[in-house]
Amino acid sequence: MTFNDFNFDPQLFEGVQSMGYLKPTPIQEQAIPLILDNKDLIACAQTGTGKTASYLLPVLQHISTTDKKHTKALILAPTRELAQQIDQQVEGLAYFAGISSIAVYGGGDGMVYEQQRRAMMDGVDIIIATPGRLIAQLSSGVIKLSHVEYLVLDEADRMLDMGFYEDILRIISYIPAKRQTMLFSATMPPKIRTLANTILKNPEQISLAISQPAVGILQQVYMTFDNQKIRLISGILKNGNYGSVLIFASRKETVKDLNRTLKREGIKAEAFHSDLEQEQRETILRAFKARTLPVIIGTDVLSRGIDVEGISLVINFDVPPDPEDYIHRIGRTARAETTGTAITFVNEKDQRKFSYIENLIGREIERVPLPEELGEGPAYQPEVKRKGTFKRKKPLTNNKKKVI
Ligand code: AMP
Repeated sequence: MTFNDFNFDPQLFEGVQSMGYLKPTPIQEQAIPLILDNKDLIACAQTGTGKTASYLLPVLQHISTTDKKHTKALILAPTRELAQQIDQQVEGLAYFAGISSIAVYGGGDGMVYEQQRRAMMDGVDIIIATPGRLIAQLSSGVIKLSHVEYLVLDEADRMLDMGFYEDILRIISYIPAKRQTMLFSATMPPKIRTLANTILKNPEQISLAISQPAVGILQQVYMTFDNQKIRLISGILKNGNYGSVLIFASRKETVKDLNRTLKREGIKAEAFHSDLEQEQRETILRAFKARTLPVIIGTDVLSRGIDVEGISLVINFDVPPDPEDYIHRIGRTARAETTGTAITFVNEKDQRKFSYIENLIGREIERVPLPEELGEGPAYQPEVKRKGTFKRKKPLTNNKKKVI
């Protein structure tokens, strides 16, 4: 299949070519025809699969054939980083088609709020918003969503995790019932199904064989005690010839501590977490994209929002709380068919959580011995019950195709 097969408007096709997309990804092959055919859709797809363009392209195609007086499409996303990233893809894809968009998210100053409000009042074609900020704008009563025909919920599971369920329903109450709705989610827990039953009409369902990291990622693991981790990470960063590096830690405090320690070691790094102002986050991401900042250390906030080409190494300083987050974290490297390395540090307490990850991806990750000068790491004994270890509430999904 090629992008020619979708019969896009020539200007939209030009946008696809200018983005350098040569052929549709599997999710695009499946989702684009359904959305072009006006079907509601529930799709289980992760970031890194090309899911954003899989809904943007058909929505842009729909919009390109209608008048451009009112807002026609609303895309809801959990974080400002994801909202911005979607907006950037719209800008690229819709550049020649002359379709306008605005990303609406919290955290900016009064001027940003006013800019967002103006764009929405002027009937921008596509609004990409985080739910909280959109509610604030809607409450002012000036913005109308009464001409919206296309509604997309992106990373719906993450939005529900962040407590946006009620906000989403409230936003939808401003949108006509006669609309096309598309829900994208990396996981399909029961609450997503409940939401889907409430807001979708006879949806088509797509389920990619998910939970598989991109093939280009070399995955490795070190069994290590906590007091060996710092020496290990600075050794890797100093000795390896890595370009752009992302380091993940589950807690904000760990991120901040690690940032201080690495800086002391002479490594140029910045911390990225929810305490930062929007502007600080953007400055960090800009420097990282411009390759003047080689290392970012972040919480999982970072794993959903960052879309930077050429990240060569991802390090999990600890094992993420949810096995799916592992896929999200390491999916930041080897984007769109390049190669990259993902290294995970597993202490004795995280071994069981780590075994769930291997269970989820259906294979063993390569064990790398610690450098000799660090001494022995812990033996791998995931079955041993330890105080304070991870407890799973639900049975494990194994490496099967997800059934919605
Ligand atoms: P996503 O899963 O939407 O976060 O997309 C992951 C990355 O793949 C983004 O950088 C997209 O610009 C890129 N991408 C999307 N579709 C394609 C395609 N058909 N060919 C190559 N790259 C793509």
